[in-house]
Amino acid sequence: MKAAVWHNIKDVRVEQVQEPEVLPGQVKLKVEWAGICGSDLHAYSHGLSLEAHPISGQKPPLTLGHEFSGTIVEVAKDVTGHVVGERVAIEPLIYCGECYACKRGYYNQCSKVGFVGLNRDGGFAEYVIVDEKMVHVLPDHVSFEEGALVEPTAVSFYAVRESKLKPGDSVAIFGAGPIGLLTLLSVKAAGATQIIVIDLSEERLEKAKELGATTIINGMRDDIVETIQQLTNGGVSVAYECAGAQPTMTSAVASVKQGGQVMAIAVFAKPIAIDMGQLMFKAADITSTLAYRHVFPEVIEMIGTGRLDVKQVITKKIELDDIVEEGFNQLINDKKQAKILVRPISD
Ligand SMILES: [Zn+2]
Ligand SMILES: [Zn+2]
Repeated sequence: MKAAVWHNIKDVRVEQVQEPEVLPGQVKLKVEWAGICGSDLHAYSHGLSLEAHPISGQKPPLTLGHEFSGTIVEVAKDVTGHVVGERVAIEPLIYCGECYACKRGYYNQCSKVGFVGLNRDGGFAEYVIVDEKMVHVLPDHVSFEEGALVEPTAVSFYAVRESKLKPGDSVAIFGAGPIGLLTLLSVKAAGATQIIVIDLSEERLEKAKELGATTIINGMRDDIVETIQQLTNGGVSVAYECAGAQPTMTSAVASVKQGGQVMAIAVFAKPIAIDMGQLMFKAADITSTLAYRHVFPEVIEMIGTGRLDVKQVITKKIELDDIVEEGFNQLINDKKQAKILVRPISD
């Protein structure tokens, strides 16, 4: 079968690989659509861990792709919860089930946490093997394209659920990439009124406006914080940091009102400074979330009922053969792109 395999930095090859086989507790999927994530781009441009993952035992070369939907084509003999033919979305976390975090239900914070598609062969392939426990059935009226968006939506949705946001609150979202845009849809669904989105790209800001941002602010401006304070009578209730950079975190901390909260969703590649004095003076708090836990059924329900119209985030659909040029390189160079979906099999 065909798969997009990471061999090295800037060396992802669409090539023929062995079709995978199910082991106990696993199911095999025909992949329908798979989304390209910022972490795939990071792996493409900056590399992957070369160590074997402690749970999957796998190390590169491996097939990328962790945001995907598919149809079950085979189940292991001991699998009783799923059957061939089911349309599904995959929760791609790998965890031990035994550590302190796992035992408390925080499997996203497992001491050995990994991802299908980053630490084990993933969904940029015709077929993929996943553990039964990470399979979530899609209702008939949720498309496979929407199914591929469940994973990134879950990241934003979980962060919004874990934040202090209450209906009627004002929020600021720093960063209008896919996670920022999906956070925008989630805060809208949760009842935020003023939704202020900040980004360096005018094209991304236009997309944010389309999706329901009430105010867009170009991140090059030097009066971002003052503008937010004026619009919100002193600051927002929650600032979502979806960029993972020092300037956006500094502005996020300065933008929250007394008793407000900064919620960090983006991954920070290096340590940054935080003005604790500002937080203390406002008795504001700062917190973070990583991935998601126990929210896939809710996200699928929200998409199915139309409360989260995630289709709006899809900007392009391509075939697996074109993933490097039309996918990775285009996302790096073209800020108009938000979510690009890849179809492994053309029919
Ligand atoms: Zn991702
Ligand atoms: Zn664990």
